[in-house]
Amino acid sequence: MDVSRLLDELNDKQRDAVAASASDMLILAGAGSGKTRVLVHRISWLMEVEGIAPYGILAVTFTNKAAKEMRGRIEQLQGCSLNTMWIGTFHGIAHRLLRTHYAEVNLPENFTILDSDDQYRMLRRVIKSMNLDEKHWPPKQVQWYINGNKDEGLRPQHIETYGDANQQKMREIYQVYQQTCDRAGLVDFAELLLRAHELWANNPQVLAHYQKRFRAILVDEFQDTNNIQYAWLRMLAAPNNNMIIVGDDDQSIYGWRGANVENIQHFLRDFPTAKTVRLEQNYRSTGNILKAANAVIDNNQGRLGKELWTEDSQGELISLYAGFNELDEARFNISRIKEWRDTGNALTDCAILYRNNAQSRVLEEALLQESIPYRIYGGLRFFERQEIRDALAYLRLINQSIDDAAFERIVNTPTRGLGDKTLSQVRELARDAELSMWEASQRMIQEKRLNGRAANALSAFIKLINQLSDDMADMSLEKQSDHVIKHSGLFAMYQAEKGEKAQARIENLEELVTACKQFVVPEEADNMTPLSAFLAHASLEAGDTQADSHQDAVQMMTIHSAKGLEFPLVFLVGVEEGMFPSQMSNEEPGKIEEERRLCYVGMTRAMQKLYITYAENRRLYGQEKYHTPSRFIKEIPNECIEEVRLRTTITRPVQTRFTPPTGHTSFEATGFQLGERVAHPKFAEGTVLNYEGSGEHARVQINFDEFGTKWLVMSFAKLTKV
Ligand code: ATP
Ligand code: MG
Repeated sequence: MDVSRLLDELNDKQRDAVAASASDMLILAGAGSGKTRVLVHRISWLMEVEGIAPYGILAVTFTNKAAKEMRGRIEQLQGCSLNTMWIGTFHGIAHRLLRTHYAEVNLPENFTILDSDDQYRMLRRVIKSMNLDEKHWPPKQVQWYINGNKDEGLRPQHIETYGDANQQKMREIYQVYQQTCDRAGLVDFAELLLRAHELWANNPQVLAHYQKRFRAILVDEFQDTNNIQYAWLRMLAAPNNNMIIVGDDDQSIYGWRGANVENIQHFLRDFPTAKTVRLEQNYRSTGNILKAANAVIDNNQGRLGKELWTEDSQGELISLYAGFNELDEARFNISRIKEWRDTGNALTDCAILYRNNAQSRVLEEALLQESIPYRIYGGLRFFERQEIRDALAYLRLINQSIDDAAFERIVNTPTRGLGDKTLSQVRELARDAELSMWEASQRMIQEKRLNGRAANALSAFIKLINQLSDDMADMSLEKQSDHVIKHSGLFAMYQAEKGEKAQARIENLEELVTACKQFVVPEEADNMTPLSAFLAHASLEAGDTQADSHQDAVQMMTIHSAKGLEFPLVFLVGVEEGMFPSQMSNEEPGKIEEERRLCYVGMTRAMQKLYITYAENRRLYGQEKYHTPSRFIKEIPNECIEEVRLRTTITRPVQTRFTPPTGHTSFEATGFQLGERVAHPKFAEGTVLNYEGSGEHARVQINFDEFGTKWLVMSFAKLTKV
């Protein structure tokens, strides 16, 4: 048997881990040190050398994509397919178990999974059925509470409420919700894990079977397991099997979702004979990228501590670009992506990583404008997101009352007590009398065909739309969108929710107002109102299918979803105080450190070249805010990073499709030319690179010889010619 191919291309420490004799093991190592690679080789080793059948192996990864990749890599090493091996996420594996053992956990054979949106809708119904007011019991908050308790393994009867009336009510909602789910055979995501745990806890013979079956249990990205997942794993351990846990405390980024990095210590406590392996050589990134990432993470306290080194050359410096605003930042990034493509590189090798989903919008538009295909990984494109579609539906209905799809979408969003029955009556009349839903509603009210409550609710809706429409008559597009978001109840509805997802929805709605502000009616649409032109633009963009998986496309994703992945070229964007670290992270202890780990994850995705960019001004909810560069940038050693100074030969002013026509200033009228040398009282001499805006808003970008690139407001800058 030739197993050398399993050990070739591994360093000594990796080899030790792959070929170790049977024992529990913790592989603790930094980014790009080959942890995932070791897992893959270890699994092959166990099969070939230890003679463990694929059936006896359980491998847990963080995402389905990672699971698929891992299976592919093992099959490649083995040269055959391995269907009987269990590789999946915790949720996937729990699901598989429950399908087999539904009876032992009191589920019907064909139970259904509730995804998070289904769960949310279900909770709204439950809250309503209990005659509770959603305002006081926001469904999102309840959802957060229920899932949080399930993640801790708690059923309602286990929750201590200390006599607090609110807590008791929450617990009661949890209970009613759970009863409803149980009656209907519904299982939410957190329930999958909890039931799988109960399967072990209440059925010793089932547990014993799997303890015997799984001789090797391997877990990647262990730092982001939560308590119920760890408890489940721990029960699976037995004298005849081994656990191999792979993780990096510096990459724990899901604390906000209940992940518990202390599980690493718990593992060492619970498996005292476990061997610890540390990998220190990084194979992914150049010297500069690695040094910079190490320096950043070094600012966190209480790390388990590890240093990474690489044999690779220093490579290129990290490039830092200060955009004047988010448009300029996007324009810069896209220009670099074009350069990359035009010099014969693949777009798929390039990733744009951002902190929040809403940040994708400006980048998406800039990519579309340049016809560069892109793919958003693990999320929807901006105009396809639920809250954006809600807001657009209001605008569409106001713009054109016959838009039935828009009508259907918002007639009861936010809820206004319109039941399915009323709506089907409206639909029926619309169909029979060939009316739009809007007209049909009005007729039903006039002809008093509805009962009092339904009639009231429907007239309130009609009144709201009419009112919004009147209010908006003389407003700019930006104001119109702002007005609709605020006065339709959408903003309040999402604001009342809790958690990161709700926060992201609010940010997206704010971003929609910015999109309206920046929208310029294209020439071919100059006979349309700005609102109609914008709606057309939005549907076209949403209708554009995403680049299919075979097409060469730029990869866009949040840093969270980039975990475990690597790309030759990476753009880390929006690296400003208030964005990254996020505003909220200042308020909670420990949050800044989690943000810093996120920054470490982002930086260490880059193999050859890393760009870090930020915008000095960013429009958030229609307001322009000045931002300072992120503290994380300051933590990068000077020798690893260079500020990009655009070549002085640039003659194109910052004029993108998004900037409203500026009245075409005459920058020349100020007496300076692009490329000209100027002097500033504080920053001394420099070269004019760029300008934007006009009149008192005119701003100019100067590359100062000593201080680097800065944007200055012309009317304050006191520039003189040299
Ligand atoms: P992360 O913490 O980001 O998940 P990781 O520790 O899991 O990273 P891998 O993804 O396994 O790291 O490896 C990073 C890169 O280095 C991969 O491209 C992998 O193929 C390569 N690599 C790992 N070990 C070696 C080695 N001994 N020789 C050559 N390349 C290696
Ligand atoms: Mg990995």
